[in-house]
Amino acid sequence: MELKKLAALAAAAVMPLSLISCTFGYQSDRDKKEASNNASLRQEARTADTSGILDRYENIDIDKLNSDIEKFLDDVHSSGNDVQADIDGLLDTLAKSYNAKTFSEIAYYMDFGSDALEAEADGCTEEASVAYEAISYAFHVAYQSAYPEYVDLIRPYIDDDWLDYYNSPGVTLERIEKNTRQAFASGDSDLDEYYDVAYGSETDEDKLDLEAAKIYLQILEGYDTETFYDDFSRDYTPEEIMPVCEMVRSELVPVSQHGLDAVMDHPSYEDLIGADFPGDELLPTLQKYAERLSPQIGEAAKRLSDKDLCFITEGRNSYNGSFTATLPADGDSVIYIYRDELVTDMIGIIHEFGHFYASYYDDTSAYDQTNCLDVAEIQSQGMELLFLQFYDEIFGDNGSIMRLYKLNDILDYAISGCLMAEFEYKVLENRDSLTPEEVVECYHEIMDDYYPDSHFYYVSHIFEQPGYYISYGVSALAALDIISDCYDDRDRALEKYEKIAHVKAFSPDCSFKAALSDCGLSDVLTEDYIKGLAATVDGLISREEG
Ligand SMILES: [Zn+2]
Repeated sequence: MELKKLAALAAAAVMPLSLISCTFGYQSDRDKKEASNNASLRQEARTADTSGILDRYENIDIDKLNSDIEKFLDDVHSSGNDVQADIDGLLDTLAKSYNAKTFSEIAYYMDFGSDALEAEADGCTEEASVAYEAISYAFHVAYQSAYPEYVDLIRPYIDDDWLDYYNSPGVTLERIEKNTRQAFASGDSDLDEYYDVAYGSETDEDKLDLEAAKIYLQILEGYDTETFYDDFSRDYTPEEIMPVCEMVRSELVPVSQHGLDAVMDHPSYEDLIGADFPGDELLPTLQKYAERLSPQIGEAAKRLSDKDLCFITEGRNSYNGSFTATLPADGDSVIYIYRDELVTDMIGIIHEFGHFYASYYDDTSAYDQTNCLDVAEIQSQGMELLFLQFYDEIFGDNGSIMRLYKLNDILDYAISGCLMAEFEYKVLENRDSLTPEEVVECYHEIMDDYYPDSHFYYVSHIFEQPGYYISYGVSALAALDIISDCYDDRDRALEKYEKIAHVKAFSPDCSFKAALSDCGLSDVLTEDYIKGLAATVDGLISREEG
């Protein structure tokens, strides 16, 4: 089964990291598959939606899309037709389908127990996938047989690697829709098996590690060392990254230990435990200090409330992650924040606001959107670092300990990203000879010094998207390029941040090293940089210790 972009679509929401990212229960995932075709449940969704979010989009009509595609394919076969209008219409439908996916998901996440809202969210996600695959088919078929006058209009939407497939006998619009719906309904059996293990009734964690390791080896059968990073439009290879991971381990882990000690020994440490940041102050606080950074950043923060684009939720009935998602039909984005009811919620909203702000400089169309996480996470983490200058005002007496917390947190992104990347690659290199026991041993060898009590089976991300973790590592290294300026030369920090915020992270042409070099930022994958960074951050920690 070939589908051009199902996986990319699923990854479109930008999620922050925690090493232990088991946030989705398996039960809900399994329900999803049964519910996806449940039209009557979807009808109930409008009544079930007390938030009014479902009124903010229109569902797309797949039959109407199919007839638009047929008209387009007819139009390209004769002269003098308004083919540009056909193309615009198809792209508009796709953008609308992405809006529907984003809003329906948020409505569901805010009422996570609702079967009707779940069915609606799954239905919208499936429709967005069907729309993308069908429109992609239409462009590739049209391009192959179009009148010469239309070829240049269609060319921007063509991926040469897919021309043969879409134009092969037996590949029809009907078949594309059927395949997409089937892929959506059947999910991924290795991943299902993993969720069964991770969320099952077994409580012996060593046993769970071994079971998960068996599945992990199965999953890795679909990968090889040559192409491991290919799905993430990266311009560096695993061979290049492994020495970087070694340096991060030797240089940054001791700094992180220093940071952790500084937090624990801080006079405000006791005050911080259990401290909350009131939910209704998150957005006003963000706006107040965003304005002080620059008029543009202030304007973006104001849009969050002016256009009602920030959803803040809490409690057991909500999905407990935070993310930013695009609304391509409006040229907007939305932020979803789950409150842990801790003081760190304020940092969470600043992080998502970094993604939100950068998305306004990114006009990549829904059809072309991928997600260069390596760069997107610099945009969000960089915003977090810019806000360090306001911590004494935002957190009062806890300003200094919160800065220490943040320094530690961003080091943790760098370190956990690199350690996990090292683990993933080591296992992949020796995939054919390793036993499940050895996989688990390898995990503990790499992780135990830094995460002494963690278990291999916790880390759902490496099962869901192998090769993904290093994005957290490299992006944190790059964001930290502005850290000393955030303390001592704030204008320069802002200037550097603005450059990276203007990079289009949704563009298929975006890649990490090229973006850094275009923005005049450091080449962060070098020994000199990492050693310098370790000294800088260590110095800042000492400064906070006073
Ligand atoms: Zn993020």
